Amino acid sequence: MIQVGVNGYGTIGKRVADAVAEQPDMELVGVAKTRPNHEAETAVRRGYPLYAAIPERADQFADAGIDVAGEVDELVAASDVVVDATPSGVGEQNLELYDDYDTPAIVQGGEGADVADVSFNARANYANALGADSVRVVSCNTTGLSRLLAPLQEAYGVEKARVTLVRRGGDPGQTDRGPINDILPDPVTIPSHHGPDVNTILPDLDIDTLGMKVPATLMHTHSVNVTLDAAPDADEVRDRLADENRLFLIPDDSGIDGSGKLKEFAMDAGRPRGDIWENCIWEESITVEGSDLYLFQAIHQESDVVPENVDAIRAITGDEDADESRATTDDRLGVGLDSVFADAPGRRALRRPAVPTP
Ligand code: NAD
Repeated sequence: MIQVGVNGYGTIGKRVADAVAEQPDMELVGVAKTRPNHEAETAVRRGYPLYAAIPERADQFADAGIDVAGEVDELVAASDVVVDATPSGVGEQNLELYDDYDTPAIVQGGEGADVADVSFNARANYANALGADSVRVVSCNTTGLSRLLAPLQEAYGVEKARVTLVRRGGDPGQTDRGPINDILPDPVTIPSHHGPDVNTILPDLDIDTLGMKVPATLMHTHSVNVTLDAAPDADEVRDRLADENRLFLIPDDSGIDGSGKLKEFAMDAGRPRGDIWENCIWEESITVEGSDLYLFQAIHQESDVVPENVDAIRAITGDEDADESRATTDDRLGVGLDSVFADAPGRRALRRPAVPTP
């Protein structure tokens, strides 16, 4: 069993901890928190040993009536791998601690690409992380783009990708974020950092990205145009994408017209926290004009990186079988929203022909 510690138990950390606890080959050693807030209560309720991330604040846990199992360095010492899910910039500072204990570490996409040995996406470059000392699981948006572009590049070749990312202003719990009533080009300069970040995963891919920010919290939405080296028809592309377990094609007849209904659907499907680990691609939007592919996809920023973190744990410990790792992760989490629709009669029959680009 791989002993896994999670340092930083917020939006990403708590989800990764739950996912690790579900894996047949992993054991959650514990989670480290800075203070005894509601998330610390959640960890206690779930039976996760809690470690004080900042030793000087350990007394606060005792004052709040929460027993801690120790301090963060003990968690690191007891772990085969640490997943660091602290805020951007803190992960880089923590790498020294992990290094002191010779514990390989996984940091998140808020860190710069140069802080870790390798940037990681399980579908696109799993093998690069085998046996690394440190791995960066790329951001939610870069994960969503890599999952989509890797199979397209393999199947057809990509001449050029152009993506506009309409990004949520903050997560539902981020009460301090904005904009409140605005639409921002963000950044106003082009390209946004997302394109270069995709190149940390797919170095040869020609991609330009434009970023926007809107006053929404639920999901990001990408408007994608990929000029392919080939000219497949839209049905062929649909089938190719449908074969990828972490790409969910939203059926035309589902009535899911935006991220609000997607989240509702995920909650109805019994997803923990309403999480959507898959890219959600509107099937009806998949259009090919000559060699130009167009589509819309939505990305649940709080959870799409969770399966990637689980696979990164296996890769960093030297488990060479990427397909097996992804399959185990997906099986244990229940990734694959397609199955919710699998028995819906007439789903394929209701597919509409590709819509011409205006
Ligand atoms: P968050 O603020 O929700 O959680 C971070 C947690 O770390 C908090 O509980 C905070 O108290 C704790 N923390 C702060 N300093 C710490 C320290 N020194 N030691 C241990 N814990 C500490 O942040 P998040 O959204 O989970 O983001 C974490 C990382 O994941 C960032 O790099 C971020 O860019 C990346 N990421 C976030 C999202 C997202 O949409 N939320 C998506 C993908 C990647």
